[in-house]
Amino acid sequence: MNALAATNRNFQKAARILGLDSKIEKSLLIPFREIKVECTIPKDDGTLVSYVGFRVQHDNARGPMKGGIRYHPEVDPDEVNALAQLMTWKTAVADIPYGGAKGGIGCTPKDLTKSELERLTRVFTQKIHDLIGVNTDVPAPDMGTNAQTMAWMLDEYSKFHGHSPAVVTGKPIDLGGSLGREAATGRGCVYATEALLAEHGKSIKGLTFAIQGFGNVGSWAARLIHERGGKVVAVSDITGAVKNPNGIDLPALLQHKEATGKLADFSGADAMDSNDLLTHDCDVLIPCALGGVLNRENAANVRAKFIIEAANHPTDPEADEILSKKGVIILPDIYANAGGVTVSYFEWVQNIQGFMWDEEKVNQELKRYMVNAFHHIKGLCQSHNCNLRMGAFTLGVNRVARATLLRGWEA
Ligand code: GLU
Repeated sequence: MNALAATNRNFQKAARILGLDSKIEKSLLIPFREIKVECTIPKDDGTLVSYVGFRVQHDNARGPMKGGIRYHPEVDPDEVNALAQLMTWKTAVADIPYGGAKGGIGCTPKDLTKSELERLTRVFTQKIHDLIGVNTDVPAPDMGTNAQTMAWMLDEYSKFHGHSPAVVTGKPIDLGGSLGREAATGRGCVYATEALLAEHGKSIKGLTFAIQGFGNVGSWAARLIHERGGKVVAVSDITGAVKNPNGIDLPALLQHKEATGKLADFSGADAMDSNDLLTHDCDVLIPCALGGVLNRENAANVRAKFIIEAANHPTDPEADEILSKKGVIILPDIYANAGGVTVSYFEWVQNIQGFMWDEEKVNQELKRYMVNAFHHIKGLCQSHNCNLRMGAFTLGVNRVARATLLRGWEA
């Protein structure tokens, strides 16, 4: 099942639990606006190459639309639509005053030079600059993009509209970025994990963790888990995977990755097949990479008791069913990885206030938002007698439906 069909299915399940009116259900499902643009750039050798860029603006009932820009070969309209819709529910679950959007360009960023990436980002921004804005739609980094990408977007946007730092978040600190934004998705994920484990009388200390993906989110989550006394027993990324049943020395692994660009050949752990990461023996599994990685092929073999969805839609609906029958507890993406967009909100607020918060305040507020959201989700799980995914979906969908109804239906 593709990402959009899976996301729609979860939404429709939540709509049924909530008893949503069919008119409102339909209006929440259809995206506000879908943008598809041609982006042609000269490569460094002068040859022209064309890419397709997307921005899907899903819903704005609760505020400006918000979501990342992804550079990845698998970016396609369905995937971007699914991710945009997930952003709508995610911002509502986090209770930040935004709607949802997502964008992307179908490209392989590692095959492009820095100057080619800059030209591509500028051309894409030229094509969408009239449709984004501080109070309309606020992009941020996602897979394959980073603070530098946001700096180029901001610079290009400012040529048309004047200096407006709050038009993108996840910017470099020197251009108005927020302290703590880079670690925020991983940190939020760890706060979420702590809240979940506490419910089960457990804590990170002493438990074993397997982490799929060692980019921004995975490496921060791993580092913070290690700091809290959790044992990270397996880690993978596109370059390979390593394991150590006694716990990997995370600072040393981070240094090795920084120095060599890969996980393989790390002396403090044994090499393992990346395909075995998801079924590795551990208490907590944290997928931090692509969507759909847990599916009917591997779900039955998962050995973790808890899954924290740091990635967006890592578990397809078939796997969801298999895992829940096995009693595995899944903390869903629209809550577990909401830390990134929550600190994006703090960045936007700081830009609008023209006042910078210290990192302690950012992290403190992030924790408050993550803990609050967890308790709201748990409340709905109890009143609807449903799992955490449906608890989060009903929370998000209900907040967006309420805002939509309050705005009124009259033309
Ligand atoms: N790309 C991140 C996400 O999927 C962050 C989005 C944002 O900060 O707007 O949640």
